[in-house]
Order: sequence, then structure tokens, then C-alpha cells
Amino acid sequence: MLKIINPAQGGTIAELAEDSADSVLAKYKAARAAQPAWAATPLAARLAAIRRFRAGIVDHLERLAAILTSEVGKPIRQSRNELNGLLGRVDFFVDQAEGALAPREVFSDSGMREVITNEPLGVIANISAWNYPYFVGSNVFVPALLAGNAVLYKPSEYAMLTGLEIGKLLHASGVPQDVFSVLVGGGRVGIELLKEPVDGVFFTGSYATGARIAQAVAPRLTKLQLELGGKDPTYVCDDVDPATAAASLADGAMYNTGQSCCSVERIYVQAASFDAFVAAFVKEVQGFKVGDPTHEDSYIGPLTRAQQVKVLQIQVADAVAKGARVLTGGHALDLPGGHWFAPTVLVNVNHDMTVMREESFGPIIGIQSVADDAEAVRLMNDTDYGLTAGVYTRDEARARQVLAQVHAGSVYWNCCDRVSPRLPWSGVKHSGVGLTLSTEGITAFTRPKAWHLRSA
Ligand code: NAD
Repeated sequence: MLKIINPAQGGTIAELAEDSADSVLAKYKAARAAQPAWAATPLAARLAAIRRFRAGIVDHLERLAAILTSEVGKPIRQSRNELNGLLGRVDFFVDQAEGALAPREVFSDSGMREVITNEPLGVIANISAWNYPYFVGSNVFVPALLAGNAVLYKPSEYAMLTGLEIGKLLHASGVPQDVFSVLVGGGRVGIELLKEPVDGVFFTGSYATGARIAQAVAPRLTKLQLELGGKDPTYVCDDVDPATAAASLADGAMYNTGQSCCSVERIYVQAASFDAFVAAFVKEVQGFKVGDPTHEDSYIGPLTRAQQVKVLQIQVADAVAKGARVLTGGHALDLPGGHWFAPTVLVNVNHDMTVMREESFGPIIGIQSVADDAEAVRLMNDTDYGLTAGVYTRDEARARQVLAQVHAGSVYWNCCDRVSPRLPWSGVKHSGVGLTLSTEGITAFTRPKAWHLRSA
């Protein structure tokens, strides 16, 4: 049985029967059998089903937000924000699908025509993360279903109730049961799923698991897409108001209790602004309300996974041992039952410390002083990851020059921790391969077929 734990209080809120090797195989076979009819269903009917799914999210928003908060510990307002944000993503896919999936004639001359069609991949595996289950799930299953694929969806074991709700809503919206199957369980069920000859593997999660999955599926030459972690840096120049930048970046670092793939995880501040920025940043962080995620005014909730408390404790201890100073937080919070960590700000940090190199995935930040743009660029690129990076400056040309040199999938000028459905979402280096979102995030679930057509 899979136990669902409330991370804020520590109690078991549900026990679910896990999928077995046999049930995974049965779901795979059912998906394989059901997919051709789904692909043959007119796009208009598939679009109508996804529109009904969207309406279902709206109708059940409060209940779904409460479930998400209960199992992930996401503060309730942030759970609602995620569901409301999902609506915009669904709208984007619904608006763009027809154009993105339409056949394209790319040549026509003397009776010879060349056409490209977008064929569904077939049956795809979607193994997903817990931190934004609606976002990271829907980035895959909505365009995949619109493109005519069947989806075997393995939500994270930390967001399984949410995954099951997604399944119920899709089925109630007209997506056939076998075209969208939810697989219940953790890594073991993910391993079982990848034994099946699926036509695409779309994974969101950590680099460590992503690398394991890449090795597992490599011999099969299956399409593989990996959306992985980050150690996202931001550089604050001395021409901006330090307090304004600090307010924006404190939110970017601590929103969702710092458990976002694109959380700000490292900040570099030009020396002249350093003290003012740090003072304003600490003030912001100390103003964040830590507490019961079901309360409307809570901004920081528990860590979703108990083991992450230890990871953060080790990062703080390592940094302090190497000369860092803790300005606020730096320790677990002794709240009854759950797993909590105090919002933490460290200075006197450097790249010998794990807190500046390894993904923290919690409410913790290191702030380092830099002399100039060149030093900032060097440090921002001194990482195994490359998901996002940002610059705060009044000068757009300067921002563009810095960001052009930074190796990251997304770059931000005077903003952070932002995802748009209109733009591709991707990482470089250990942050992943492939992309979701944008119109390319629709065709990612198809294979282009080349038609050479000569009239007789
Ligand atoms: P994780 O790697 O622990 O687990 C992800 C999924 O993989 C889960 O569903 C898990 O059950 C499954 N899994 C675990 N071992 C497996 C195996 N051997 N074979 C197949 N499946 C297996 O990651 P997580 O804790 O769920 O998510 C947090 C990570 O995800 C962070 O690193 C975060 O940055 C990253 N993330 C990235 C993005 C992005 O868009 N780039 C978005 C959200 C989260």
C-alpha cells in the first residue's frame, strides 16, 4: 500500500493500492489497444474533452486545492494559484493545437508536392514530479492527448491524490479510461512502466532519476524528454533599487517553500549594493508567515519530503564550516508532526559550498558579492545545471549582454521564477533535454511524417 502523509502534521491521510508489474502491463496493453481510435477521433472532439476538463477544474477548484495542500503541504493560496495558472496553460494548448498539428505543404511544383504531417507518437509514459503536479503534468498530458496519444501517467507518490483527481476529471470529460491511465506508486512502479515498449518517455524530476531513466531506456532508442532540476542564479546590478529587487527575489527564492524547479537558488549582488540588498532581503524573508498551509495567510509551508530537512541541514552545516554566516533561519523548525525548515539566508558564501552548487529545493538562499558583470557571468555559469538565470538592472542592453553569455534554457530581465505557456520550457546540461510548452511543446508529442506526392 502507498501511504499518503500530510507533511504539515505528519499523519497518514490515505492508503492506496499500488500498481503491480501485472497491472502496469495490463494498463499498457489497454492503452496500446485504445490509442488508434483516440488518434482517429477528430481533433475537435479531443479539444472538446480538454475544454470540459478545464471546466471541471474550475468547478472543483476549492476541493482540488485542498487536496493538493493536504498531500504536498503547499500553502492554500499557492494551491489555488497553481490551479488558476493551469487554466491559462490549457487555454494556450487549446488555442494553438489546430495550427500546430495541421499538415504543412512545404513544396509544390509540376505535379510534385511535399507535405509534412504530425503523427502521434502512440503510447507515451509520463513520469511526473510533486512540486507543481498540475503544471508539470499538464505540460505533458494535455498536448499529448490533443495530438492523439494515449498516456500512461505516473504521478509522484507525493502528489498521488492529485494525480488520481486529474484522471477522474479527464475521464469525466470524455477521455476514454484506457487512453489516460494513472499508475499508482513510487519509483518501483516507474521502473515497471519503463519496461513496457512505450513510444515516448516524458519525465519531470531530479537529475539523479532522470539520468537513471536515460540509461534504462537507452537501448530501446525511444524518444526521451527530461525536465530536471536547477541551481538557478540571479545577478543584481548596483543600478537598481535594492529593496525592490530584494522583494522580487525573496519571493522567487521562497515561493512554494522554495520547492520550484526554477526557484532562485543563488544570488550575486554587485558590491556597492550588497549591504542594502541583503538587509532588505532578510527583512522580506522575516516577514514571511510560516505556518499551517491550510491557513489563508501562510506563505511558507512544510517541506513536502521528510528527507529534505536533512539535505538542508547538511548544506547549512557545510556552508557554516567553510565560513558562511546565517542571517536568519538555518535550522529545522520544531513544529509538531510535520517536516519544516526555517526560511534561511546565508552570506559569506562561495562556490566551495554545496549550498551554492547543489539543488537545495527548500527555503534557503546564499547571497554572494561580485565585483562586476564578468565575475557574475563566470559564477552563474559555474554549475552543472542550466534551467533559468536572471539579471536585475535598469539597462536592457547590459542585461541582454549578460544573459546572452549565460547557459540556461530561460533567462529573465528584472523578473524571476516565471513560466509562460507561450515560451519553450527547457534546460541545458543537467537541467534536461527536450522541451515542454510553446507550440513546439505540442509537436513534441508527434513524429513528423514526410509525404512525397506526385500526381499521375
Ligand atoms: P524524483 O526524481 O525523486 O521523482 C520524479 C518521479 O520519478 C516520481 O514520480 C518518482 O516516483 C519517479 N521515479 C523515481 N525513481 C524512478 C526510477 N528509477 N524509474 C522511473 N521512475 C522513477 O523527483 P521529485 O522529487 O518528484 O521532483 C523534484 C525534482 O524535480 C527537482 O529536482 C526539481 O527541480 C525537478 N523539477 C523539474 C521541473 C522542470 O520543469 N525542469 C519541474 C518540476 C520539478
